[in-house]
Amino acid sequence: MIDRKTIDQVYQATDIVDVVSDFVSLRKAGVNYKGLCPFHDEKTPSFVVSPARGTCHCFGCGKGGNAINFLMELNNMTYPEAIRWLARKYGIEVIETGFDDKANAERKHREELLALNQWADEWFQQTLQETPEGQGIGLSYLRTRNFRDDIIRKFQLGYCPSSGHSLGDAARKNHMSEDNLVETGLCIRTNGGKLRDRFFGRVIFPVHNYLGKVVAFGGRILQKKDNVGKYVNSPESPIYYKSNELYGIYFAKQAIQRLDCCYLVEGYTDVISMHQCGIENVVASSGTALTHDQIRLIKKFTTNLTVLYDGDPAGIKASMRGIDMLLEHGLNIKVLLLPDGDDPDSFARKHTADEYIDYINQHQVDFIRFKTDLLLRDAGSDIHARASVINNIADSISRIDDTITRSLYIAECATLTGVREQDIIETVNSTRNRMKLTKLKEQQERSVNVQSSMFNVQSPNPAGVASGSPVVAPSAQAGIKEPRERSGNPSTLRAAANIMKYVIRYGEKAIGDTEDEAGNTRPLTFVEYVSEAMKSDALTFTQPLYNTILQELLTNKDKPHFTALNYLLSHPDDAIRNYALSQATDSGSTIGVNDDSILDHLYENAEKLIADLALAVVSDKITELDHKIKSGTLTPDEMIAGTLTLSKYKEAQIQLKKTRKK
Ligand SMILES: [Zn+2]
Repeated sequence: MIDRKTIDQVYQATDIVDVVSDFVSLRKAGVNYKGLCPFHDEKTPSFVVSPARGTCHCFGCGKGGNAINFLMELNNMTYPEAIRWLARKYGIEVIETGFDDKANAERKHREELLALNQWADEWFQQTLQETPEGQGIGLSYLRTRNFRDDIIRKFQLGYCPSSGHSLGDAARKNHMSEDNLVETGLCIRTNGGKLRDRFFGRVIFPVHNYLGKVVAFGGRILQKKDNVGKYVNSPESPIYYKSNELYGIYFAKQAIQRLDCCYLVEGYTDVISMHQCGIENVVASSGTALTHDQIRLIKKFTTNLTVLYDGDPAGIKASMRGIDMLLEHGLNIKVLLLPDGDDPDSFARKHTADEYIDYINQHQVDFIRFKTDLLLRDAGSDIHARASVINNIADSISRIDDTITRSLYIAECATLTGVREQDIIETVNSTRNRMKLTKLKEQQERSVNVQSSMFNVQSPNPAGVASGSPVVAPSAQAGIKEPRERSGNPSTLRAAANIMKYVIRYGEKAIGDTEDEAGNTRPLTFVEYVSEAMKSDALTFTQPLYNTILQELLTNKDKPHFTALNYLLSHPDDAIRNYALSQATDSGSTIGVNDDSILDHLYENAEKLIADLALAVVSDKITELDHKIKSGTLTPDEMIAGTLTLSKYKEAQIQLKKTRKK
């Protein structure tokens, strides 16, 4: 039985368009998406996907439902299978529980916590509206900030009295459990075991999830005090994962969908003021950097996001990395810089919705252009600074998956920076390769983790390996790490591994010329060089996997568009594929794929790599022979032959060391 939390996380992460797109090619039709129905044969699309509702439906055959129904129907999956499939897709770890009772108890507990929050939400509102302290302090504060009554009610703003125990007392009188009060964070248990209200003396901003349930609260202090934070927030709990929630999403989702655009601001009051001014498609990240889960939540409703900033350059730069992540998710990002001295909140107070929207429409700039302008201005005419700006922009562009959008940005970046388009293309491509590999590797590792967790919940084994699991082939796991060798000394193994790393990364690169049978000059590839050099030095790998890979690359090297890495990464053998992946992405290494400085010195490197292996093998033999000669077990003839061989080896060793130093 899959744990409830996992199921909730899966539902939260699931994007119906994303899931259906894995099987059906969709195109946008108004607020929905349309495609050919996968359940029946048709020529004109009648299969409609509604991102806002999270459902799909065929107007021809009537099939559809939510993402889970869709997967179950289309792929003949059971419910748990569909959940696991989605969990894998979104990188969510599947927690299993052994007993239905336990899952039921957890669900019941979560419902209790939500009920408690809902009760507290009403109590806070009532306190604000109906008690002298609430009206005198809380409500008057909100009114000095010019929040209208209808807005205060809409966002369910409240007040927690300053006594420090009013909420706790009221909750107990209403038979709420003390443990739950502590678990939701509404109360804190003091050392003496008493309950204290977390939010005492603060105005309350409830945080609703996208279904409208109150999952947390933020409390704002009214007078500034030293050592006291302006805001206090609920801690994480079984109903609140901070990284899953966006403030305002429940009140914004319809407008976001209708206008196919979402504004992102920082704080609670930014959201509320903009609503009051008449702009409802706005959410807040609550001061933290956006998470992948939050982005997925936005993507349920739109792919167009405008980030609203006040004019503080330091803040803007700090948030740029987060925006790069948005690009990865395929969002169209614009940036709006508000006039000096204004933030989204204050600007809303001075303008009507129409003026605000006009201002946004006239001043929002495409993120890449914005970033390029800003960084270039800082770099001035300093050449090194400009070069690093270009790399930085190329890095952002690399994250965009859509080819056409990417090439438009590349062209624009070339114009803005005055750098040759081709140079930017190359930088972007090599960054993309690197990112792709990293992602592949992460997925692979995650899928192994997820799958082992599927099978090992009852009896976790320390190695984290799903022994006997029918899903994971043993080689898939063994292959994640470098194959463990049982023969050879460490330096020989290291030398062999280094050669393979280069072969995998640069196997197809030309490192010189050679002649074919007809006497024509043709390029000599890295993998050929390695193979020939090893043959001429009578060297072999002791690892069968290395020999297999080398042999296959030699056989296939003349195929059109051949690269060693792509060939190996799409290899049907798990062990080969995973090994190539691990070598292409080994973290901590400074060797990048297509790294220019490496490519420039590929031939020298190749020579040295082979010399290293030869040197290691020779040193090994010298030690071995030396040992034999000194052991006194050889016949006189053997001694003579041995000594001769030894001196030959030593001569070779000297030569090799010279090569190594070149
Ligand atoms: Zn159909």
